[in-house]
Amino acid sequence: MSTILVINSGSSSLKYQLIDVEVEEVLASGLVERIGETTGTATHHGPAESHDRDLAVADHAAAFAAMRDAFDEHGPSLAEHPPIAIGHRVVHGGVRYIEPTIVTDVVKSDIADLAELAPLHNPANLEGIIAAEGLFADIPHVAVFDTAFHQTLPPAAFTYAIDAELAERQHVRRFGFHGTSHRFVSRAAAEFLGRPLGEVKQIVLHLGNGASACAVDGGRSIETSMGMTPLEGLVMGTRSGDIDPAVLFYLHRKTGMDFGELEDLLNRRSGLVGLSGHNDMRDVHDAAASGDHAAQLAFDVYVHRLTYYIGGYFAQLGRLDALVFTAGVGENSPEVRARAVEGLGGLGIRLDLARNAAQSHLPRRISTDDSPVAVLVVPTNEELEIARQTLSVVR
Ligand code: AMP
Repeated sequence: MSTILVINSGSSSLKYQLIDVEVEEVLASGLVERIGETTGTATHHGPAESHDRDLAVADHAAAFAAMRDAFDEHGPSLAEHPPIAIGHRVVHGGVRYIEPTIVTDVVKSDIADLAELAPLHNPANLEGIIAAEGLFADIPHVAVFDTAFHQTLPPAAFTYAIDAELAERQHVRRFGFHGTSHRFVSRAAAEFLGRPLGEVKQIVLHLGNGASACAVDGGRSIETSMGMTPLEGLVMGTRSGDIDPAVLFYLHRKTGMDFGELEDLLNRRSGLVGLSGHNDMRDVHDAAASGDHAAQLAFDVYVHRLTYYIGGYFAQLGRLDALVFTAGVGENSPEVRARAVEGLGGLGIRLDLARNAAQSHLPRRISTDDSPVAVLVVPTNEELEIARQTLSVVR
């Protein structure tokens, strides 16, 4: 058996999975939450059962110690299933990192420099790498970048129409995110359809807490909705997505809000939560169903933007074989899926409402048999994709 430990280190949480890469099976997974606070929790799903523990987690090193303790206490034993490598999720790889990469001092320093472009994510990813190196000193650590899959975007898609020289000097361009998920899901969708990836044109809608759309042409990302940062594009749980940039100048002049406050407004107090007070789509559904107009409007704005992107990406691709929903909302909300494609029959997108309503954890078709475009739900698995990519580097 060969195992790989996959690490997703956020600013206040550590997620991990130990994966047997020979059979692609999860041996254990866990989550350490509220890093940096006085009361944290560690949840570990071992071979037999799940375990919860309350504890203070001062920093990322303490979170990794809690993870190691959980493996020691509840199994599986890391000594008996020693990982051959550690795969780390890193959000921003800039223009340099287009492949999964063995972590070196240079790579760490580049990840630190790229924090400028992903201030919420890269510093926490790096802390995770450093803490993990402390625990697993003798095996390779591999960084898998969220931006890497989108390095195939053509210049027309990644260039902002601003002063070209300034943009070049300051590295202002679109990068795109959720690449690990878009890669995994687009491959799985082609497999589900039984067609070679190279000939399938698809739109993948990753709708989770963060959300992005991606046009995938023959396995290559040609357009995606997140930009230089993960703020652009679709309406998200707490992020605004697309907005006229002049709104910021206006609010600054009118209210005196500074850049930090405006950044906070668009990243943490906008999207579904800004419109309705709820950042979880389940709560938005419940509130709207009980007659809450703000929640209904939040839902309407969310699906309106989705439909807009589907139409735009269809045009970019020139033909569409599959429209694929994934992540928390995409996999679990028949309401969002139905409304996003309502009225797209003219584009050959026809939903089967009974198939759409059925719940399942497996990849499935939710379009009618005669729909020219296959509409699919394909559960994402970013951890498995990171394990696969890590394995490809160390083998
Ligand atoms: P993710 O970031 O992929 O884990 O997705 C998290 C989001 O999925 C949550 O914030 C919820 O809004 C959404 N979600 C999970 N289950 C459901 C559901 N049954 N219906 C609607 N949304 C859901």
